[in-house]
Amino acid sequence: MQHEFSHTVIRAAYDLSQHRCQCSDPDCPHRSDDEGRCRQILRWPAQDEPARDGWRAVHIEPTGPGIIGNCQVLCSRCFEYAVAASRSTEPVVERRRPALAAATAGN
Ligand SMILES: [Zn+2]
Ligand SMILES: [Zn+2]
Repeated sequence: MQHEFSHTVIRAAYDLSQHRCQCSDPDCPHRSDDEGRCRQILRWPAQDEPARDGWRAVHIEPTGPGIIGNCQVLCSRCFEYAVAASRSTEPVVERRRPALAAATAGN
């Protein structure tokens, strides 16, 4: 059971990140800086959007509390990677491919 972040916590985490992706996963394919962080600039209105400067507030410890200390912000690209990586031990969820589905349906 995951504890949701309040708007206040998300805003604080966003400000603490200095509006940059906090991903430092060495396996993540992001373009990193000297410290191995992604540092993609994040736009506040783009929260939960899949855009390049879109981002998500995520739990550092998945089952941990919804507090600022357990909240980090990831750009949409790193978020996608983190989701894929965290699910690698679970059954693969078929990803919807709208373009392909549409092409097949129209067949
Ligand atoms: Zn990132
Ligand atoms: Zn990353």
